[in-house]
Amino acid sequence: MSNHPETLALHAGWRRDEATTAVAVPIYQTTAFQFNDTDHAAGLFGLAQLGNIYTRIMNPTTDVLEKRMAALEGGVAALALASGQAASMFSVLNVAKAGDNIVSSTDLYGGTWNLFANQLKDLGIECRFVDPADPEAFARATDDRTRAYYAETLPNPKLRVFPIAEVAAIGKRFGIPLIMDNTAAPLLVRPFDHGAAVVMYSATKYLGGHGTSIGGIVIDGGNFDWEANAARQPALNTPDPSYHGAVWSQAVKPLGPIAYILKMRVTLLRDMGACISPMNAWLILQGIETLALRMRAHCDNASAVAKFLGARSDVTKVIHPSTQTGAGAAMVAKYLPRGQGGLLGFELAGGAEAGKAFINNLKLLYHVANIGDARSLAIHPASTTHSQLSADEQAATGVSPGYIRLSIGIEHIDDILADIGQALDAAKG
Ligand code: PLP
Repeated sequence: MSNHPETLALHAGWRRDEATTAVAVPIYQTTAFQFNDTDHAAGLFGLAQLGNIYTRIMNPTTDVLEKRMAALEGGVAALALASGQAASMFSVLNVAKAGDNIVSSTDLYGGTWNLFANQLKDLGIECRFVDPADPEAFARATDDRTRAYYAETLPNPKLRVFPIAEVAAIGKRFGIPLIMDNTAAPLLVRPFDHGAAVVMYSATKYLGGHGTSIGGIVIDGGNFDWEANAARQPALNTPDPSYHGAVWSQAVKPLGPIAYILKMRVTLLRDMGACISPMNAWLILQGIETLALRMRAHCDNASAVAKFLGARSDVTKVIHPSTQTGAGAAMVAKYLPRGQGGLLGFELAGGAEAGKAFINNLKLLYHVANIGDARSLAIHPASTTHSQLSADEQAATGVSPGYIRLSIGIEHIDDILADIGQALDAAKG
């Protein structure tokens, strides 16, 4: 099949239902799958062959979503999960256990920051946060127990593009995989093309686009040599007591370079159960069908909003890839030639009070804690998404008191600009 994303988004992983010839992917709303006989069942449980056992572990509808995303990203296989949070948690737990550490960019979604700073810590896994402006900071934070690097491609609020190739190359030196959260930049950036080993998404956002379904997905690039880095990556290279002592880098070899993602499915997902429902997998698949069209519209509209805000005297700062300067601008040119995304932020001369007044006067844009919806959205992060962070942590993630985040949708640009304009005028009082 062609590699054009517009085509893959409609066709990858599915042609027709063999039983009924249905063209649309059916919703296989079943918990269990009948085995042909005991040999068949034993083969499935023993991983001699891959197949459906129980929907917590895999499901034919979810399988199409996984294959489609693996194809779009240029990876080898994927695992869909209950949410983006489950995806980031599993992506780390798959390689790190108590006593280990990971190194993460400071530029993170607030929920991921909490997960890494608190939940991982309680599990005995240390997260070392470093400023991605200096990629070598990842090397300096690395020690013998560092198992993974983690970052977001286009993190809000700063919208500083992450130096994927630069940090992936450092990881290669040490035998450490780079895990990229690509939630904000589907189809705009393919992190595997730049050396990342694992890509994850909150599918809740642009992949679905409709704002109806929570979901997450982890994609394995199949490009990381777990076996060659055996001492550095014990989780994939020592016997796993939870699966008859399987050594994942060896046991999975006959099935292809899918050790990382298969281990995640048959251990973490089996044991912790953060599975996506077939219905939600199907809804996210519906969204992906139009992803290429939507991303184009998001990018065009957000660029127009950035220009509009830049011309207003009551706006002191516009944060959008197009307003980056110096090294930041070079990263935008290198990683975002296909579009600069749908997110932007700005600060008002009137500070926090003006920011709140702006939000309260919006009529078309929704005031919600979400991004990547086809509708335009706005929020005041300091009092919402980032409110559980300390003032210092908020500052480290780039949230100032008067900062407003916009996720620009695919409505007509005139209507978006009219609403933002009238809310800004009202905020001036
Ligand atoms: N990663 C990013 C960049 C996000 O924006 C979000 C949610 O806002 C998540 C992960 C978590 O995803 P979910 O809400 O699907 O759990």
